[in-house]
Amino acid sequence: MTRKTHAGVILTALLVFTMPLGGARTGAQTPFGPIRVEVDETRAPQKILHTHLQMPVEPGPLILYYPEWIPGEHMPDGPIINMAGLKFVGGGKMIPWRRDLTDMFAFHLDIPQNVTSLAVDFDFLLAAPASGYSAGASATAFLNLVSWNQLVLYPKGYDAGNILCLPSLRLPSGWVFGTALPGAKQNGETIEFSPASLETLVDSPVLTGHYFRTIELTPGQTPLHEIDIAADSAAALAMTPETEAHFRQLIAEAGALFGSRHYRDYHFLLTLSDSTAHFGLEHHESSDDRTRERSLIDESGRLVFAGLLPHEYVHSWNGKYRRPADLLSPDYHQPMKDDLLWVYEGLTEYLGEVLTARSGLWNRHQSQEHLADVAARLDAEPGRTWRPLQDTADAAVFLYDADRAWSNWRRGTDFYEEAMFLWLDVDATIRRLTHDEKSMVDFCRLFYGGTSGEPDLKPYAFDDVVNGLNRIVGYDWASFLRSRLDSVSPNTPDESIENSGWKLIYNDQANEIQDVRGEIGRRLNLRSSVGLDLGDDGTVDDVIYDGPSFRAGMGPGMKITAVNGKQFSAEVIKEAIEAAKGTAAPMQLIVANGPAVETYAVDYHGGLRYPHLVRDENRPDFLSEILHSQTP
Ligand SMILES: [Zn+2]
Repeated sequence: MTRKTHAGVILTALLVFTMPLGGARTGAQTPFGPIRVEVDETRAPQKILHTHLQMPVEPGPLILYYPEWIPGEHMPDGPIINMAGLKFVGGGKMIPWRRDLTDMFAFHLDIPQNVTSLAVDFDFLLAAPASGYSAGASATAFLNLVSWNQLVLYPKGYDAGNILCLPSLRLPSGWVFGTALPGAKQNGETIEFSPASLETLVDSPVLTGHYFRTIELTPGQTPLHEIDIAADSAAALAMTPETEAHFRQLIAEAGALFGSRHYRDYHFLLTLSDSTAHFGLEHHESSDDRTRERSLIDESGRLVFAGLLPHEYVHSWNGKYRRPADLLSPDYHQPMKDDLLWVYEGLTEYLGEVLTARSGLWNRHQSQEHLADVAARLDAEPGRTWRPLQDTADAAVFLYDADRAWSNWRRGTDFYEEAMFLWLDVDATIRRLTHDEKSMVDFCRLFYGGTSGEPDLKPYAFDDVVNGLNRIVGYDWASFLRSRLDSVSPNTPDESIENSGWKLIYNDQANEIQDVRGEIGRRLNLRSSVGLDLGDDGTVDDVIYDGPSFRAGMGPGMKITAVNGKQFSAEVIKEAIEAAKGTAAPMQLIVANGPAVETYAVDYHGGLRYPHLVRDENRPDFLSEILHSQTP
């Protein structure tokens, strides 16, 4: 089809004001639109949404896409399976459609003569399980997170930054909303937003709900920062003044770290529910942050979720403002390449950890316990002996959804956690080479700096990262990075801790962060001793490959029912591990393996081992500097 529509005349003027995200790379492409996007979420508690689209068309063949590659999810996981009731009408008549046989996200239509406007209607089914990411459960009786990518079709041949949308949303009675999408005007239960590009729309989810609270973090200042919270109960909204102060500090610390902010306003869209998926998804001017209902009011819950908002917030700079060119997919249809996720996610994991400490969401000890916990997991991960860190990024598309069983041997998405240590090592190395004159703060200000204001997008490649580091301090950064990315069994976690002035040790004292994670997740982490990852009912989630329990014959999916003749409990197995210390007799586990019940003899005598960091007085203490607040 041709790109001229009679709406095109007004488009050009509107685009100037509403498409800051598209400007960086859409070049001379002719704009498309407008697409009226009318979403009705009044039946969200029934787990169904309706969308009505109206778009200009011309007679002839037309291909419409459903968004496939979802920004921030790094996968082709657009939830197309949850479309139902799809119907196209033009010139008052139904228009037949057929799905492409090899491209499941493409719909073929033939627009009849004299038809200039196409109506598209479909329902989006919300009955997803409470797992996964934005396509997972998003609605409860009291709240819903609207992800616009789930509710649109758009023509082939245009970048999302060049497609103009006119969005509106109808809420259930009495619900309120929060979003970074500009220009909201409420009329009864319907909210009309300013015209926005499809890119801005997909990047600007709307959190809606009955129990709702908005907390301004920088009152009276520009830009505006707020936390919009929707919860499954009024009680869950009761953020303590201390926690609120830490979030205010987070905004200040991020300003000190990056030196500029590339957004007009910033909204944390926080869902507190035990019935939705739990994850975080970054956007340029907001983040979709979902956690357990009582995360603000129970201390263990607060500790487990402490790092979520800092991580997603860092993505506004690292991931949205600066993004690997390989990850662009300007139309959600061209595949993303995930090879630089060790920067996109790994550096975000590192800076998120740093900001969690600097803002006081974790105290110094808790931050160090977290580092020790993650380093210990990587220490006990034999998959690192065959799959290089680089391949965890290259293969992210399937590693994100890989099963927990054998995850230690397969490896998972270690471009988050191992790369966190890679970046800690970069920070420690910059400090060592410059005699503590420079640090990652200098790199962040260089790489993520520039003028504050409207969202912008500056793509980068591996060489840009290396060049940026070299502008901070000259070094063979390419070899530094490549050796840690491409080799097997690099010593990155332990080395980076040592290079920042600390050591990883194990003793029989519980690790505080590991403990609260176990309590909240109802799990028992015995990876560093008998090599088992258990549910608190004895279910074997994972067995460390070639560890003591593996050698005894155990595997994932089994269930421990008794330990040394006593009924299984977390305390019973921990006492048995301690009792076997210094003896020769193996621990006897009675284990159900599907239909069979068998006894396994686990020959391990090292006692309980929990990881911690201790200071190495022979080296400068960079880690304490890194975790220390940078604001007055
Ligand atoms: Zn992330």
